[in-house]
Amino acid sequence: MIRERRDLAKARRIVVKIGSSLLADARQGIRQDVIDTLVDELETLMRRGIEVAVVSSGAVALGCVRLGWLGRTLSVHEKQAAAAIGQPKLMRAYGNAFARHGRIVAQMLLTKDDLRHRRRYLNASNTSATLFSAGVVPIVNENDTVVVEEIKFGDNDTLGALVSLVIDADLLVMLTDVDGLYDKAPREHGDARRYGVVRQFSAEVLRAAGGAGSSFGTGGMASKMNAARISTRGGVPAAIVNGQRPGVLRALLAGEDIGTLFLCGSDRRSRRQHWIADVLRPEGRLRVDAGAERALLERGSSLLPVGVTAVEGVFDKGACIDIVGRHGVIARGLSNYSAEDLRKIQGHGSHEIERILGYRDFSSVIHRDNLVLLHPETGEER
Ligand code: GLU
Repeated sequence: MIRERRDLAKARRIVVKIGSSLLADARQGIRQDVIDTLVDELETLMRRGIEVAVVSSGAVALGCVRLGWLGRTLSVHEKQAAAAIGQPKLMRAYGNAFARHGRIVAQMLLTKDDLRHRRRYLNASNTSATLFSAGVVPIVNENDTVVVEEIKFGDNDTLGALVSLVIDADLLVMLTDVDGLYDKAPREHGDARRYGVVRQFSAEVLRAAGGAGSSFGTGGMASKMNAARISTRGGVPAAIVNGQRPGVLRALLAGEDIGTLFLCGSDRRSRRQHWIADVLRPEGRLRVDAGAERALLERGSSLLPVGVTAVEGVFDKGACIDIVGRHGVIARGLSNYSAEDLRKIQGHGSHEIERILGYRDFSSVIHRDNLVLLHPETGEER
C-alpha cells in the first residue's frame, strides 16, 4: 500500500500515460528520440521486475502531421481518419524502440464504452495479465476510429486511470511537459508553488488545476486531475511528472520529491462503486423527497419506492440511474426495477409492490450496495 513517497519503491505494476505533446512534433511527426529515451527508462524498470503498461496518445496528432492538417479545425470523422493513419506510426515507433532491447510490444485499443461492458472489461483485464506474464508491454490507446463520442485531447488521461484499475496497477504516472500541479501558472508566475503530495481534492487544489493545457492541445491539468481522482478513489495513486526530464520515472519510484503525487484518501471506493460511479453511464433519473435524501446521505440507506417522486427516462431493470435531490444529483446506482414499473410503484410502501406489479423481486429501488453518493451541486463524488 502506497501511503507516502518512499512507498513508491514498492510499486510492482505501473501504468505510464504519455501525452501527444511529448511525442509529436509539428514538422517531423513522431519524435523517435523521445520515445527511445523513455523506452530505455521503462526497460530499466522492467528489468527490476516492474510490469509496465503504456497508455500513449499521439495517433491523431501524427495523422494530422502526415496529412498536413495541423492547425485546422477538424470534424470528428477527420480526427478518426487521422488517428487511423497515426496509430500504426505510433506502434511502429514503440515497437522499434523496445525491439532494441529484444522486448515485444502489444497494441491494445480500447474505448471507454468497451469498459462499460463487464465482459469486455474482464477480457481487457485477462488479456493484459497474459501479456504481462509473457513479458510483453501493452501499448494502449483509445480506439479512436470507432469512438462514438467526440475525440478530445485529455481523453487518454481518463483512459489511463481506467486502465490502471483494469490491470490492478500500483501506480498511474502521467507524463507531461510541466513539472506537476502548481498553485498558479508556473510559466507566468515566478513564485508559483508546486504541490508535492496531494491527499485530498480540496477546493484549492481543484482551482489550481483549472487552467488550460499546453502546446499540442493536451487536456491540461483539469483532465489529469480528474484522472487522478478516478484512480485514487479506486485505490491507485497517481503522479503527474515532467516527461522531458531524463530519469524522471526512476527518480519518482525512488521517492524523490518531483512532480505531484496524488495519494488515496479515506474516500476509497470498492471496485463495484468505482464501476458504478466512473464507468457506467446513467440512463435515467429518479427525483426523491427530502426524507429519502436524508436517509441516503446521512444513514447510507437503500432507496425505497416511497421516497421517489418522479421517474425520468426509459430504462430497464439493472440500469445505472442518477438520484436527484433538492440541489441536484446526489447519488448514482443500479435500479432493481424498470422505469415503467417504477412509475407504478413510486410513492408507495415496499409492502405494496407485489399488489401493484404482480411480483416483488426487491423491497428497495436501489440497494445500498449498488449506490454511490455524489456531490449535490456538481455530480462529483463525495
Ligand atoms: N487518443 C488520442 C490520440 O491518440 C488522444 C487523446 C488524448 O490526447 O487524450 O491521438
